[in-house]
Amino acid sequence: AKERGRNAFSFFSEQMNRKALERRSLEDSLRRAMANDEFYVDYQPQIDLRSGRLFGVEALLRWRHPEEGLISPARFIPVAEEMGLIRRLGEWVLRTACNQCHAWHEEGYSSIRVAVNVSGHQFNQPGFIEMVDEVLEETGLDPSSLELELTESTLMEGANETIMTLIDLKVRGIHLAIDDFGTGYSSLSYLKHFPIDRLKVDRSFIRDISTDLDDCAIVEAIIGMAHSLGRRVLAEGVERAEELEFLRARGCDEVQGYYFGRPMSPQEIEQRLVRVTAE
Ligand code: C2E
Ligand code: CA
Ligand code: CA
Ligand code: CA
Repeated sequence: AKERGRNAFSFFSEQMNRKALERRSLEDSLRRAMANDEFYVDYQPQIDLRSGRLFGVEALLRWRHPEEGLISPARFIPVAEEMGLIRRLGEWVLRTACNQCHAWHEEGYSSIRVAVNVSGHQFNQPGFIEMVDEVLEETGLDPSSLELELTESTLMEGANETIMTLIDLKVRGIHLAIDDFGTGYSSLSYLKHFPIDRLKVDRSFIRDISTDLDDCAIVEAIIGMAHSLGRRVLAEGVERAEELEFLRARGCDEVQGYYFGRPMSPQEIEQRLVRVTAE
């Protein structure tokens, strides 16, 4: 038994060693990735349920590692956050997305908006607003064509300054959304005070909506509460017609998900846009 215990220990420590090495090499390659142009941004359609129109897109960061291929943002963003790299990376995503949206406007697709994810490490840093101002000015994008997606935990971390920052963004005309709504802090009272335009209901509630009565009740309650506070609701991760029908029947405003399109290149988005001409 003693022998087995020792073996198990060395097995675990080997595992831990391998994890640490993997992590180290992920950090090294992340550091190089920026200089090597390994990042790009895909865009996922957001659909208004009343008009059926593609009214916006969410910018989603992609990393193509030279040896390992595509690495999920769910894996590398937490590492970039811990390394303190997310500020530069987040700024790069914002600039890329604003540039792209401005280019669409110039081509006559004048109503499209872009939503950009903001990490708590970015939002709760001094200089965040100045950075956003700079990017908007450089790219020429109208602030009302930009939406920032923040999570509940990001909003809670900032405490008193959060509301000031949100108001500063709001007065510029920038739209604000709470991402992954329902998975974080469940103190709903802040909704009353925060100038948030849109709640994005997390995919985990939508996934089982056709079978799970609790999830149905939660989604209905979120829609009802949001509407009574004058906020819009977007359901994330819509994959099937039944989910869409449920959401439509409950008055959900907007949807996003594989049913309407996966994250895709700007060229693919363009094929789905309608040009608005001057004449
Ligand atoms: P998120 O902000 O909740 O983004 C939605 C995620 O759900 C995306 O995963 C998207 O591809 C996926 N998705 C969309 N529709 C469906 C669907 O119908 N079914 C399923 N199964 N999945 C769907 P992705 O691109 O892998 O991104 C994962 C997360 O990484 C994002 O979750 C976000 O938290 C983070 N992320 C991505 N880009 C950025 C960024 O530029 N900055 C920051 N801070 N975080 C980012
Ligand atoms: Ca998001
Ligand atoms: Ca989300
Ligand atoms: Ca998320």
